Amino acid sequence: MAQIRRVVLNSRPGKNGDPVPENFRVEEATLPEALTPGQVLVRTLYLSVDPYMRCRMNEDTGVDYLLSWKLSECVDGGGVGVVESSRHEAFSKGDTVTSFNWCWQTYDIMDGDKLQKVDPALVNGHLSYFLGAVGMPGLTALLGMREKGHVTPGSNLTMVVSGAAGACGSLAGQIGRLEGCSRVVGICGSDKKCQVLVSELGFTGAVNYRCGDVAAALKENCPHGVDVYFDNVGGSISDTVIARMNQDGHVILCGQISQYNKDVPYPPPLPPETHEALQFKNITRERFIVLNYMDKFEAGLLQLSQWVKAGQIKVLETVANGIENMGVAFHSMMTGGNIGKQIVKISD
Ligand code: NDP
Repeated sequence: MAQIRRVVLNSRPGKNGDPVPENFRVEEATLPEALTPGQVLVRTLYLSVDPYMRCRMNEDTGVDYLLSWKLSECVDGGGVGVVESSRHEAFSKGDTVTSFNWCWQTYDIMDGDKLQKVDPALVNGHLSYFLGAVGMPGLTALLGMREKGHVTPGSNLTMVVSGAAGACGSLAGQIGRLEGCSRVVGICGSDKKCQVLVSELGFTGAVNYRCGDVAAALKENCPHGVDVYFDNVGGSISDTVIARMNQDGHVILCGQISQYNKDVPYPPPLPPETHEALQFKNITRERFIVLNYMDKFEAGLLQLSQWVKAGQIKVLETVANGIENMGVAFHSMMTGGNIGKQIVKISD
């Protein structure tokens, strides 16, 4: 029996509760030595912490495509690792593999049918990118823009992104620029993040929602109004952006993180003024769920890989270390501690 370490759900935040690192607990466990046919022994390299996990901490996720985590059971999410040994014909020792349902463990025995082999050349060997720019967040930014953004090259549109310095937002803004928006303005939670968006990622402007008058700053940054809004946060920030939107604009309803600790349905109800603004100005606001576009993943990942390798998209990451820091990293991401994708490195 091999000794491993894993993270289990220790407690739930409860109704309207903010998650804390102590909602998670690290345990020792053992893995059987021998694999049965079809199984693969993997060593975890990187794990992802993501906002959608907040609803998996509840007894009921409130959505049909996600299951709740169970108390005292191992938590799972996006992961990337290396095959140590295999009894599945598609995998050999040394392969790089990923899964959306990777247990937060240092090693695991997985059903090979539930693993995807990935080519490290797609990310120039930077394997954590499979959890970010060349993974689910990258696909969310790319497919969200393409399916719901209605941006055409040369159309001279102004785009606003909320949660702009995070995993999806930092990519969505860069993709908006590549796809033809002439102005891309980010909204995020610190001056440092604003500076990074403009000086490193090529955003036209950035607004710190934690200080000053967001409506006034948006007016200054978007003199011709807002045509496309990539919404990661919802709540009052989004109400303010929508109030500044132009006729026939498009909201990409990607996420509503400002509401995730509240006991409200998804998507959360809008104030009447925002609802009226959408109707009055004929603005579309369709819910986007990346998992509904799996047939577009392969081509999307290739596109993202090309942009990253060509330097057309700059990738930012915040990396924590060690399985014992999963809960801390999750909490930090939920409270804005990350710039770019929050990753946890588990082993070399
Ligand atoms: P991020 O990397 O953006 O991390 C979360 C960020 O949210 C924090 O860094 C913080 O940045 C910001 N934030 C936290 N609380 C608030 C608040 N109250 N108001 C405003 N901002 C807040 O996460 P992801 O890129 O992984 O996810 C971004 C969004 O995209 C989430 O809403 C997520 O649910 C959604 N998503 C949707 C998918 C889909 O298929 N529709 C798929 C993947 C993600 P700051 O410092 O700016 O506050």
